[in-house]
Amino acid sequence: MHTLFTKPRILASSICLVWGSFFSSIVSAETESTTPQETTTIASEATSAKNVILIIGDGMDDHQITIARNYLAGVNGRLSLDTMARRSIAQVLTVSNMEPDLPVYVADSANSATSIATGTVTSRGRISTTAGSDEDLRTIVEMASEAGIKTGLVSTASVTDATVAAFYAHISLRVCENPSMMRDALLFDRIPIDCSPDMKENGGLGSISEQLVSSNLNLALGGGTKHFSPIMEGKDVSVATAAEAAGFQVLRTIEDLNSASLETRWLGLFAPSTMPIRLQGEGGRSAESPLPSFMNRVHWSQGDVTLPEPTTCEENPEFAGTPSLKLMTDRALDQLSHNNTNGFFLMIESASIDKQSHLRNACGSIGEVAQLEEALQSALGFANKNPETLIIVTADHGQAAQLVPTESLFDAFGLPVYTPGQVMRIRTPEGALMTVNYATNSFLSEEHTGVSVPVLTNSTGPFPTMLTQPDLFDIMTDHLGLAD
Ligand SMILES: [Zn+2]
Repeated sequence: MHTLFTKPRILASSICLVWGSFFSSIVSAETESTTPQETTTIASEATSAKNVILIIGDGMDDHQITIARNYLAGVNGRLSLDTMARRSIAQVLTVSNMEPDLPVYVADSANSATSIATGTVTSRGRISTTAGSDEDLRTIVEMASEAGIKTGLVSTASVTDATVAAFYAHISLRVCENPSMMRDALLFDRIPIDCSPDMKENGGLGSISEQLVSSNLNLALGGGTKHFSPIMEGKDVSVATAAEAAGFQVLRTIEDLNSASLETRWLGLFAPSTMPIRLQGEGGRSAESPLPSFMNRVHWSQGDVTLPEPTTCEENPEFAGTPSLKLMTDRALDQLSHNNTNGFFLMIESASIDKQSHLRNACGSIGEVAQLEEALQSALGFANKNPETLIIVTADHGQAAQLVPTESLFDAFGLPVYTPGQVMRIRTPEGALMTVNYATNSFLSEEHTGVSVPVLTNSTGPFPTMLTQPDLFDIMTDHLGLAD
């Protein structure tokens, strides 16, 4: 019995009914008024085609947005995210792989991206395959390609990482990103993984990078060089060479990206794995543990506690050598809209909001929200010229960072109160101290949280105030005319 996670078709079809009638009324004047920070000049050619630009801030819950707003714009400032026409909320749904009727309350990027890309809820670690039964789920990218609609994926992670992969690949385990990871592989040098049932010799589709080669994507831009150097299963060429044979122009530098022909398909591999982040803590510092004195360890009300020294966020020098998310977005919009009257689907992921939160580096996450902001401004600029462009910004799941008091309410009682977990005390440009806490676990890497996530859109028409991630699939496929 699949009552718990049956897709809410009533909601989706009601959106569908209003979507066609109201979307044409979206006027550029509205979006112009929502882009106060826009400085981008989009060279893309205007079309009347229907387009979808989906922007995913990985792990970008309201804590992440608030922390980034405080730092980037100040408490009285506004992000471009804040100026979108509609704000809604999406419930993140996950199920158990062993018992697919049983909810799991915290997601990973693989299952939540699968929800958005396919409209079906699955279990953690799965890339567009069903929980338990391991059946392939059709993705919006596959549906769009079959309908003659161009498709592109852009990310600051590897183009084989979970969020991106869910849009074009089908595999039971997200870590099987290249042919060398399919059999007898170890994760973190100690955890055995087995994707051999997905190998081509066993009737599968192969690793994620191999599936990208056989996809119909018009472009994939991000990191992940290391996943394209192994040899293709059953062949004697690397995955990158096979990609070129399949018609992809492989881009490795900013210059490659700027000069790439708009007539070819692009595979951008600008870093070995995840692309460099923009901001980091001073000297590379991340969150640190408060240090209680000896007496405080004896009794919680005694002694005192030493908090980590404040830090500022500084530029990461490695960032300048690789394309920004904005540049990749601008070029993707150029290529996808070139000589195109059928429209496109473009997914843009700011991946390291999540990845830096795992590492307890609030500055890294803030820099990635800044990158998302710039990509959003480019998308809004494009939509101004192409008003049939639906923009949806959302997150895939919640993350660990919490904005906690810099001075505890209980300091007034003279008690040595401090937060468990690790904290980063950041000096903001407006001269205050902002304390970000990480306390989901005791491990080297923080974990996701189960909170619902924001949904922002440029649509000025009716939009549900509460939806689920599979509803986003329905809204996007409806807009592109792909609904079944
Ligand atoms: Zn994560």
